[in-house]
Amino acid sequence: MSHRHFCDFAGHEWECSGTALRPLAGDLEPSTCICLMHQVSMDNGDHSECSIELLACPEHREEQLAEMAIFGASYPPQGEIDAESMMFKDTDGKAIVGFCLLCDKDFYSMEDVEAHNANNLSACAVFQGFKNN
Ligand SMILES: [Zn+2]
Ligand SMILES: [Zn+2]
Ligand SMILES: [Zn+2]
Ligand SMILES: [Zn+2]
Repeated sequence: MSHRHFCDFAGHEWECSGTALRPLAGDLEPSTCICLMHQVSMDNGDHSECSIELLACPEHREEQLAEMAIFGASYPPQGEIDAESMMFKDTDGKAIVGFCLLCDKDFYSMEDVEAHNANNLSACAVFQGFKNN
């Protein structure tokens, strides 16, 4: 039985056949959709009244990933920063301007960012992996 998701990238509902790729959760393979309210497979029972999961649809998934990667490159990484080390350092302590959220590549200059993101992220192995999935 199919169910719906809400594509938060473009703001529309879409029909899902039971499994979906969740790259933002770190998935490389499509996984079974689980009902947020019942914590069981969406195929198991009737969930037409349940809240629907926000998930970019197959058409917008790549665009959303590309946008997230660029976002990651232009804003400081959150969380792992302690006041001493002052943000933007790689593991060797070299200053970076950002990193790719998808493949974790560090960028040392805006040229690195542009080279990585050029031609629809052609330099990003992880993003290319999603596309070929
Ligand atoms: Zn689904
Ligand atoms: Zn449900
Ligand atoms: Zn969409
Ligand atoms: Zn990348």
